[in-house]
Amino acid sequence: MICLTGDIHHTSLETNEQRFVESGDSEVKIACRFLKIIEKYGLKVTFYVTGKTFDEEWENLKLITDSNLVEIGGHTYGGLPLGNFSKILHKIIGRCPPSHSPTYGSYFQQKRDIKRMIELAEKKTAWKIISWRSHGYIHDENTYSILAQMGIKMISDEISSKKIFPEKIKEGLISHPINTIPDHDHLYHAHRDGEFVRKAKIAGYGRDDFGSDSHSIEIWGEMVQKQVVEIEEKEGLATILMHPICMYTADKFKTAERLLEFISQYKTILAKEIMWRIK
Ligand SMILES: [Zn+2]
Ligand SMILES: [Zn+2]
Repeated sequence: MICLTGDIHHTSLETNEQRFVESGDSEVKIACRFLKIIEKYGLKVTFYVTGKTFDEEWENLKLITDSNLVEIGGHTYGGLPLGNFSKILHKIIGRCPPSHSPTYGSYFQQKRDIKRMIELAEKKTAWKIISWRSHGYIHDENTYSILAQMGIKMISDEISSKKIFPEKIKEGLISHPINTIPDHDHLYHAHRDGEFVRKAKIAGYGRDDFGSDSHSIEIWGEMVQKQVVEIEEKEGLATILMHPICMYTADKFKTAERLLEFISQYKTILAKEIMWRIK
């Protein structure tokens, strides 16, 4: 079984990668085109979307939330923007600033952000939001208990090369780790060229359970396929992360299309549907 996921961010977040999107285009518009391929293969997908995307780009986002094959999960309201001071500091030390702050803020800041995200998404879509992934997987000891209080049931922040089954965590949420190699931090694409990856490795950015190496999109696609086969053989749940924007900037969806066609031989499941299968 496969839980296909992707994260979508508002344009005004101005992430490093968004600089590689042509003017007039946006992450949401890219995600619409990505969804067309997903629909072509009849797959289900969970998109974790920042709250500000609902406020600022609803017209385009609506085309995604209207699809029967899509579940919308929370991805923070504001996308944890980096402060100006931190941006300047990174420039001074000659490093490309990261796309988000390293922390989610105080208990009350988190609670306000989470509440705002959920209320807005529910108002716009009329669906209950029960699945969550934090932007940059950023969370602390408060985050999951706040999410549980706010009605969130499913979380997918962990990256694990070993865990092939969802598990209940102490705050009461069900965690389904991303257990195939994540795309963004393991791909050469957009701003992540040889020089960027070399500096990121030294700084320890993007290191996870799958190591700190980056690959061409073609190699990455083959790695995901192999990992899916291994998880399917053990009857586990493969949670795959494919950001629409990464798939587009890397090779204009060429590898994504191959991978989605491959995935179509298996059953796909929305994050919220995992909950019904857990005893
Ligand atoms: Zn994100
Ligand atoms: Zn990317």
